[in-house]
Amino acid sequence: MSATTKLDIAKIRADFPLLQTEVYGRPVVYFDNGATTQKPLPVLQALEEYYRSYNSNVHRGVHFLSQKATDGQEAARRKVAQFINARHDHEIIFTRGTTESINLVAYSFGKRFLQPGDEIIISAMEHHSNIVPWQLACEDRGAVLKVVPMDANGDLMLDEYEKLFSEKTKIVALTWVSNSLGTVNPVQELVARAHARQVPVLLDAAQAIQHTPVDVQSLDVDFLVFSGHKIYAPTGVGVLYGKESLLNEMPPYQGGGSMIKQVTFAKTTWADLPFKFEAGTPDVSGIIGLGAALDYVNEIGLEAIIEAEHELMQYASERLQTIPGLRIIGQPKEKAGTISFLVEGIHPFDLGELLDKQSIAVRTGHHCCQPVMEFFNIPGTVRASFSFYNTKEEVDRLVEGIKKSAAMLG
Ligand code: PMP
Repeated sequence: MSATTKLDIAKIRADFPLLQTEVYGRPVVYFDNGATTQKPLPVLQALEEYYRSYNSNVHRGVHFLSQKATDGQEAARRKVAQFINARHDHEIIFTRGTTESINLVAYSFGKRFLQPGDEIIISAMEHHSNIVPWQLACEDRGAVLKVVPMDANGDLMLDEYEKLFSEKTKIVALTWVSNSLGTVNPVQELVARAHARQVPVLLDAAQAIQHTPVDVQSLDVDFLVFSGHKIYAPTGVGVLYGKESLLNEMPPYQGGGSMIKQVTFAKTTWADLPFKFEAGTPDVSGIIGLGAALDYVNEIGLEAIIEAEHELMQYASERLQTIPGLRIIGQPKEKAGTISFLVEGIHPFDLGELLDKQSIAVRTGHHCCQPVMEFFNIPGTVRASFSFYNTKEEVDRLVEGIKKSAAMLG
């Protein structure tokens, strides 16, 4: 039984070698897709092909191999630009991941645009990586952090958001999809309200890119960041999309090779976009792997993926709620990818460990969202996060696994 009639899930699962793996002698049930996704064969093959047949540094050699590696990297940049509908390829900056992309903007935008007393708006449901870089920028620039609160369902309070703006607001940085609650935020609305006050917006799309169509032009968002590894690509590569006009105004984040036009001991000038922000040798294989991952997603079709995931989430949500004492944390209006829950009287770590022994991989803890846990006054949650390659049978195994664990611990 597959999650949907549109996708041939058995065929898709055959593309992911890890899903064939056994853990403790049973086929693994992988429900930790929010942390990282598994990699399909075309991505693994792209990595192997690169290292076997054209491993070389980029933008440095006239020789054939370097040219081929450079072409591979730049083709991937084009694929990313197309995937999120960026106007220009050079608005795509390759980084190590979401975390580095946010740090880049917080540092570089901060250095250029933040003055003492200026304000930055984030939200109560941010991942630590969309909190701490802004705190560093505040410390560095003398700016102040403002936080959009959420309600008990895990929805942002839009009226309160509205009230946070002042003459001093310089940037808004919000997550599109919450990694701890699954909340899908109304980003079109959030961006529009900030733009009505001429305030630019950064969206953390780490949990959106794999579950939602992203169109940076129709959103008119100023910065958008994500990690390759959450969308079936290798670890070590991420993306910063930024509007050309803003990126051109911002100073470099790191100095080194590749990011310069001319270096003298007296003065150095910067390369044009995107290279101004890409100092040093990039993760060439990872970038090429990201291109292969986006090809794979396009081939299957994001719409079909979203439909399958939606159906699976629905099923999981219904089945989980049949478990006595199980409480889902976060019941927002719209949800994607993730269900966080607790079972009465059981610490999430204990439940996670017993599920692990039943070959079921879930995440337990604060999910890098300690303020969210504090808000709900809980030590953490058990988080099952889904991908289109998961099945209803796997959800059934999770439900049985929780019941068995609860019986053992209860
Ligand atoms: N933001 C969100 C919403 C995330 O889910 C994650 C990863 N869990 C990150 C940021 C950080 O991503 P990375 O560790 O790949 O930089």
